[in-house]
Amino acid sequence: MTRTAIVTGAARGIGAATARRLAADGHAVAVVDLDESQAGATAAAIEAGGGRAVAIGADVSDADAVAAAVARAADELGAPTILVNNAGILRDNLLFKMAEADWDQVIAVHLRGAFLMSRAVQAHQVDAGWGRIVNLSSTSALGNRGQANYAAAKAGLQGLTKTLAIELGRYGVTANAVAPGFIETDMTRATAERMGVPFEAFLAGAAKEIPVGRVGQPDDIAAAVSFFCSEGAGFVSGQVLYVAGGPRG
Ligand code: NAP
Repeated sequence: MTRTAIVTGAARGIGAATARRLAADGHAVAVVDLDESQAGATAAAIEAGGGRAVAIGADVSDADAVAAAVARAADELGAPTILVNNAGILRDNLLFKMAEADWDQVIAVHLRGAFLMSRAVQAHQVDAGWGRIVNLSSTSALGNRGQANYAAAKAGLQGLTKTLAIELGRYGVTANAVAPGFIETDMTRATAERMGVPFEAFLAGAAKEIPVGRVGQPDDIAAAVSFFCSEGAGFVSGQVLYVAGGPRG
């Protein structure tokens, strides 16, 4: 069945792969990102493949922008019943050097953003009596040096996910989290740059620590999100799936 999906942070990386995958699954996709022109590239790729998509510029941490983005997705593509909260940023530093702004921004984008988007989209889901919410957590939720802000946000998303599952289940809405391990994107490229390590060496080093012997690709995460969004996953809710090439959690 064709649904309308919203994927945040979908201009590139995991979000772009997820938007393309949900379109390939037959859904119309609202590609939300900070910069509408960058989101446009993902939307254009979906349309070139015969799918339906619209690019929407919005900061997910801004309540007015979120309300406007969800309203526009509903107007242009139909009531959104699938939501993937993927938008994210890194502001890594050791605790003693971490600025308050770095803490606040990371919590705002990941946690407040997922809260605002979920609150706006659930109205459409409850009306439809069907919905899927997938939140992007991380293996960093288990704790990671230099990521007090990010680890707290990603662990917080797991609590949000379980609570959404409990509150919205009676309306036919499931909520689950995908927690990626190391995925090759601009985010991990930026981490390598910050550490002064060439990206190829960074990838090779990470692959050595991963049981399947390689780093993850955005499509690996998109496949897991696709499962949670499927009709057949209606009895799977409140779960956290680590997609990390080996056991975590
Ligand atoms: P990415 O390549 O950095 O892409 C993130 C996207 O989110 C960018 O397009 C960014 O836009 C957008 N964004 C940032 N702040 C936003 C805001 N306030 N409102 C709307 N969009 C915003 O990241 P990724 O590696 O694909 O990661 C996607 C998600 O997976 C994130 O939640 C991340 O924490 C999570 N994750 C990634 C990994 C990994 O190894 N890559 C592992 C675990 C979890 P701009 O380009 O304009 O900044």
